[in-house]
Amino acid sequence: MSNARFAGKSVFITGAGSGIGRATAERFAADGASVFAVDVNAPAVDETVAAIVATGKTAAGAACDVTSSASVKQAMAAAVAAHGGIDVLVNAAGVGRAIRFELMDEAEWHRVIGVNLHGPFHTTQAALPHLLERRGCIVNVASIAGMRGQAYNSHYCASKAGLLNFTRSLALEFATRGLRANCVCPGGVKTPLVKNFTPDGDMEMHLLSYSMSPIPGKWGKPEDIANAITFLASDEARMINGIGLVADFGVLA
Ligand code: NAD
Repeated sequence: MSNARFAGKSVFITGAGSGIGRATAERFAADGASVFAVDVNAPAVDETVAAIVATGKTAAGAACDVTSSASVKQAMAAAVAAHGGIDVLVNAAGVGRAIRFELMDEAEWHRVIGVNLHGPFHTTQAALPHLLERRGCIVNVASIAGMRGQAYNSHYCASKAGLLNFTRSLALEFATRGLRANCVCPGGVKTPLVKNFTPDGDMEMHLLSYSMSPIPGKWGKPEDIANAITFLASDEARMINGIGLVADFGVLA
């Protein structure tokens, strides 16, 4: 058997059609894992799978809407059928946008909480028996927005803070059963998502000073976050449980 660090491991990744999720799928596969990539965007997830397979590595995938428990159960069953089980669950699917709270209707609140918080609930429920069987781990993509408040971003911040504390709670509850759960908390990473966070003309710019970076204008790459995710999922991180690993060039320092 190969001595690649994820050889023999089966990884289920949401949001794998773009950005951080896609880079993470590619990185796990390059390091020997069998990847099952899911995304609500079916053509995008097909592209991710095709790109991995073209490198001679192992991947399969499915269209899956993480807001639907039925859709998640179906995808999880397909992943187990394809790769025999689940060792690592990565929740990278996420949505958000800058919006003034006075303009936020119920549908917008539920849209963001639905993908960012209910999604990981659904995938964790479906993956749990498989993860426990293999003493696996969960890596959730939260955000520095889950570690502090941000103007014009209340639903996203609430979803990411919820995801972080959901993850910490799982870490404690399953600590004696060999399951680890951690978050990565990225700062700004250049992906299609970030265009949704452009402030509109009516927003008070001084309220956005939270985003001041010690290295102004410097963006992370999806691969930077894939590095952090694969580290947390690896045996090198076996003592690390229940953390939010910040990767933000020092914004929160
Ligand atoms: P992205 O838009 O490139 O990728 C997100 C993916 O999630 C897309 O492919 C999208 O189709 C998928 N998705 C959306 N709704 C879904 C659903 N209902 N079911 C399944 N898939 C769905 O964005 P990204 O920047 O790569 O974001 C990945 C994660 O990183 C998100 O959770 C995001 O909140 C988080 N994050 C991003 C940044 C950043 O600056 N880009 C910073 C902190 C945290």
